Amino acid sequence: MSNEMKALAKMAPAPGLDLIRAPVPEIGPDDVLIKVRKTGICGTDIHIWDWDEWAAKTVPVPLITGHEFAGEIVELGRNVTDLSLGQRVSGEGHLIGKHSRQSRAGKFHLDPETRGIGVNEQGAFAEYLKLPAFNAVPLPDEIDDEIGAILDPLGNAVHTALSFDLVGEDVLVTGAGPIGIMAAAVARHVGARHVVITDINPDRLTLAREVADVETVNVAKEDLKDTIAHLKMKEGFDVGLEMSGNQVALDQMVEALVMGGHIALLGIPPGKSPVDWSRIVFKAITIKGVYGREIFETWYKMIAMLENGLDIRNVITHRMHVDDYRKGFETMKSGASGKIVLDWSAREV
Ligand SMILES: [Zn+2]
Repeated sequence: MSNEMKALAKMAPAPGLDLIRAPVPEIGPDDVLIKVRKTGICGTDIHIWDWDEWAAKTVPVPLITGHEFAGEIVELGRNVTDLSLGQRVSGEGHLIGKHSRQSRAGKFHLDPETRGIGVNEQGAFAEYLKLPAFNAVPLPDEIDDEIGAILDPLGNAVHTALSFDLVGEDVLVTGAGPIGIMAAAVARHVGARHVVITDINPDRLTLAREVADVETVNVAKEDLKDTIAHLKMKEGFDVGLEMSGNQVALDQMVEALVMGGHIALLGIPPGKSPVDWSRIVFKAITIKGVYGREIFETWYKMIAMLENGLDIRNVITHRMHVDDYRKGFETMKSGASGKIVLDWSAREV
């Protein structure tokens, strides 16, 4: 193995990413070294590419980016006994501390000291990734590398969708990006009655229908009330999954919910946004903010669902080699895509 590798990195505090040569990371006694095979491009990576305000104050430069990956273990730290060489893995990109109250209570996903690979620490857009063995998640044979590479966002979708009981319930998903679409598929898989997804982008709504058995509503030109009437729903949705970060969508969701309904919020509004709290109080609505995935309960649940018929493969709309990463990021930024998976296998020159 050469001690250099290909990696996609933020090299200057400006828009864009560069394909660079970087040293292969050296692992510690509790780490594994993973040969990365496939990675997913995340909305977070687009923020880092664009170098927006959030990225500029969060991401150190230089930094190898990326946190959605699947690969194979090629080196084990000397304390690592429960994983093996050649094992296929994905992994949790949040590196947790062990000191906070939440962490010591086993609620690792709520640890305030969390650091993200590809955001605060060296990331997965590379031929090799150093990861604490604790964070590695073995992949069963049924889950191939490209699905393995999107378990991170699927985990967001699963964690959000499973926030509240969905069995027999009517579910409204606002925002038909890849995570919204996958959340709709999960809601369907676990036994929701009606699943309706809204957006204003027709391509995304078409993709939603291809991935999941859902009703779609283009709220730019259709009225959600018509869909509610057509489905013969009398009192509104029981559960809302807000994936868009859009103020109008949240207002619509509150109006479309039953008395005593539940909302899980994953979408991030761009700044402070006005909320009509009196509507939420008088409708007795419960709101839950969702961050990341439960470590490792969400991983367990999503792998179990994938092994039992949950099919989200069609959310991957583009597959390309990492050498074509610029095209991948441009496609993603155009909004005319679902998930984009980059292939890291060596290319014959
Ligand atoms: Zn992600």
